[in-house]
Amino acid sequence: MNVLRTKDEIGRYRKQLRQEDSSLGLVPTMGALHKGHLELVRRACRENDSVLVTIFVNPTQFNNSQDLLKYPKTLESDLDKLRDLDCAISVFAPEVSEMYGASPNASTYDFGNLERVMEGVYRPGHFNGVATIVEVLLRLILPDRVYFGEKDYQQLQIVRQMVQQKGIPVTIVPCPIVREADGLAMSSRNTLLTNRLRNEAGFLYKLLGEVKKNFGTKNANEIAEFVREALTAHPDFKLEYFSIADAETLQPVGIVDTTKKYRAFIAAYLGEVRLIDNLPLN
Ligand code: AMP
Repeated sequence: MNVLRTKDEIGRYRKQLRQEDSSLGLVPTMGALHKGHLELVRRACRENDSVLVTIFVNPTQFNNSQDLLKYPKTLESDLDKLRDLDCAISVFAPEVSEMYGASPNASTYDFGNLERVMEGVYRPGHFNGVATIVEVLLRLILPDRVYFGEKDYQQLQIVRQMVQQKGIPVTIVPCPIVREADGLAMSSRNTLLTNRLRNEAGFLYKLLGEVKKNFGTKNANEIAEFVREALTAHPDFKLEYFSIADAETLQPVGIVDTTKKYRAFIAAYLGEVRLIDNLPLN
């Protein structure tokens, strides 16, 4: 597998693909790859001649230094998983200094109301960090398509807005959430759950299923109250936020407009591990 470490190597790789007239799909990740990531890569392989997977734990998007320290790093087994896919994949796994120089700093963006809800409230600075690294990668790599999971739905909307604001010519391809058998959304952080807590984790998806069932008959406040009570009654979960929101603007639903799409969003701690999930409601 072609593992690139520097921006110069990316420059040469990109030039070669241009000469070959090959289309390029980019899949940005922070590694610790699971089946959710691999679905993005498979899709990119179907839709492009070449695929570049970036594996980079981006320090500027961590608002909690412990979270950054604990983040799983498994480059060798990530490469093995990518080798098993039958596809022309290259990997870009740079050092932090290669991407940021001596001091990792995020740029400042204005995402308006998109960043004033949910993750934007509970993880201050997070989206500036995400947008910074995505902008740097897109300008460096200039892919035809870039793949993002709906698991991080607010991130997807933020990236869409950044790409539009900055006029970067790339097609953003959103990909559905890949789940474990019990409904838990796959996530690199799931490996940090103890066995006991892992067995409880499917509860979050069950709750979202109840929310979906009740959407349209109960109002959003009643549904939110039900979610709050269910998680308060559970000994291992601690709710951070729950929101039923417009799938485009991410603003909390008021009166339901049947011409619009809505999604339920949730973030909760299970023990020490922060889980996020979301589900389309209509
Ligand atoms: P991460 O490595 O967590 O930054 O994720 C890299 C990309 O994979 C992001 O676009 C995520 O939204 C996406 N992703 C992570 N988990 C899943 C999942 N369970 N299903 C679909 N996409 C996912």
